[in-house]
Formats: sequence, structure tokens, C-alpha cells
Amino acid sequence: YHAKQDRHAVRRFHANLSDSALERMELEQALRVALDREEFCLHYQPIVDTATGEVRALEALVRWQHPELGLVPPGRFIPLVESTDLIVPLGEWVLREAARQLATWRQARPALRVSVNVAPRQLAQPEFAGVVRAVLDEFQLDPQALMLEVTEGAVFGGPGGDDHTARVASLGLPLALDDFGTGYSSISRLHRLPAQWLKIDRSLIQDQDAPPPARSSRPIVRALITFAHEAGVQVVAEGVERPEQWRDLREWGCDLIQGYYVSRPCAPADLTWGPWPVPSGQLG
Ligand code: C2E
Ligand code: MG
Ligand code: MG
Ligand code: MG
Repeated sequence: YHAKQDRHAVRRFHANLSDSALERMELEQALRVALDREEFCLHYQPIVDTATGEVRALEALVRWQHPELGLVPPGRFIPLVESTDLIVPLGEWVLREAARQLATWRQARPALRVSVNVAPRQLAQPEFAGVVRAVLDEFQLDPQALMLEVTEGAVFGGPGGDDHTARVASLGLPLALDDFGTGYSSISRLHRLPAQWLKIDRSLIQDQDAPPPARSSRPIVRALITFAHEAGVQVVAEGVERPEQWRDLREWGCDLIQGYYVSRPCAPADLTWGPWPVPSGQLG
């Protein structure tokens, strides 16, 4: 095994030339080695109270700290990892690392939460609940402190098309339904998932001012907020990049926002803790 080899593998994956089975195998092998060497790290992005600008939670987002390529974003390797059983050990590492970090932060900020993305294959593992419990025990964390971000596809249509609703609910951790508004998100199934948060995908947040002939997504965003509140679910808007978006979302009663306007995902040492100034009504 050579570093040179995985450099090539990652490059090709970058270039989207990764369709061939051989190239996938090379990248997969590189990722196995990276897992052994613990070359992954977590960055954290604040999730902020829309009305007060205070940080309520941080989303943990994995990166690959490659010795030569530098920081590789998850979009370059998570799709491949999620399509193999490698996601099981990587997902477990992410959960444990996020819990470790959170336990440290909670000494000074006892109400802080961290949310962790969970892939379909992880949910499909019968051992997943045991892993979660072991991690909570290890760091003596209140189960309410750790949130799991799941997508509809993961819960309702795992690899076998199974319905994992009951299993996910039985974990006893708060859930966030991630990326709502992409793929085949379906309002009709939403009421079956006991989620605390509905995360509206950034495509819907950014299409608020889509040029004609596209319609603005504003009515949909507002309806989702109303709908979620009727169901007792809080709403997080993803991908907020401008103060006007924050101001509108606040006016519409959206509970929480996340996006580059507040902060990009950062290494723990680089985090800003706010509170951020809430944009006033005088903009735009
Ligand atoms: P996600 O869970 O929807 O995470 C939000 C993504 O949106 C992050 O990308 C974040 O950096 C990006 N983002 C946040 N605010 C803005 C904004 O204002 N503008 C724009 N353009 N983007 C914004 P990132 O870190 O590259 O992660 C991409 C995806 O990779 C995540 O989407 C998630 O699906 C997956 N992922 C990340 N970490 C993990 C993990 O530990 N496990 C699993 N299974 N998937 C992960
Ligand atoms: Mg997420
Ligand atoms: Mg998302
Ligand atoms: Mg996602």
C-alpha cells in the first residue's frame, strides 16, 4: 500500500471519474487505512436561536485529514463510505468523538447539544442502539444532549426497504429529520417519525429568491414551519447565507438557523460562540 496510490484514488474521485469498480476499490482501500490511522476529524457548525442569536447546538461534520491532500470534505468520500460497511466503523468513530467533545464543552455549557449525522446502514445495524448507549455511558452524557440527524430515506427505506421508525424512536435520543425538501421527502410520512427538529434543506432556503420562471420557495418554507409547529416540531433552516434570510425566517417563526452567515463549520479551537446580533427589520 502506498500513499501515492491513494492520492491518485482521491484525485480521480474528486474528478468524478470514480465509476469504475477498480477506482472505487482503491478509494475504499485508502479509506480503510485512513480509519486505522485515525485521519478523520470533526468540524462543528453552530445552530442558533433565530430570535436571540444564541447557540443552541452544534452539528458535527466529518472531514478527512489526508496527509498530502489536506482536508477532504465529506461530499468527496461519504457517498462511497455510506455505500459500504465502512460507514459502520466510521459512524461509530464520529459518534464517540462527538460525544467526547460534547462532554468537555458541557462542563461550561450544560445546555449545549451536538447533533451527529447517521447513515441508513448504521440504522439498519441491530447493534446500533447498543453502540449509542455505550457511548453515552462512556462520557456520562444525558441522552438529550446528543441528537441524531437522519434522513427520511434512512428511516423509512433502509438498504432492505425496512421501516426503522420504531428502532430509532426506542433509542431515546432526540432526532432531527435532515435535508427535508430534497429527494422524495414526504409530508404524509412525517407524522410517523418522532423528530424534535425538522431541518429544511438549504435548496429550499436558497430558492426563496429564485428568478422566474421558478416560483419562490417562500410559501413552501412558511407552510413547512406552520405544519411542523402544529405537529410540535421545531424548525431549523439550513444554509442561511444572508441577513435577509435570517430576518425573514425569524418573522415566519422559524426556531433555529444554521449557515455560513452565522458560521462555517470550524475545528473546535476556531469556534465562535456568539451570541450573534439578530438582523433587524430595517434590511432589504
Ligand atoms: P448535512 O448533514 O446536510 O450538513 C450540512 C452541510 O451543509 C455541511 O456540508 C455544511 O458545511 C453545509 N452548509 C452549512 N451552511 C451552509 C451555507 O450557508 N451554505 C452552503 N452552501 N452550505 C452550507 P459538509 O460539511 O460538506 O457535509 C456534507 C454532507 O456530508 C452532510 O450534509 C451530511 O449529509 C454528510 N456528512 C457529514 N458528516 C457526516 C458524518 O459524520 N456521517 C455521515 N453519515 N454523513 C456525514
Ligand atoms: Mg446533517
Ligand atoms: Mg442537511
Ligand atoms: Mg445530509
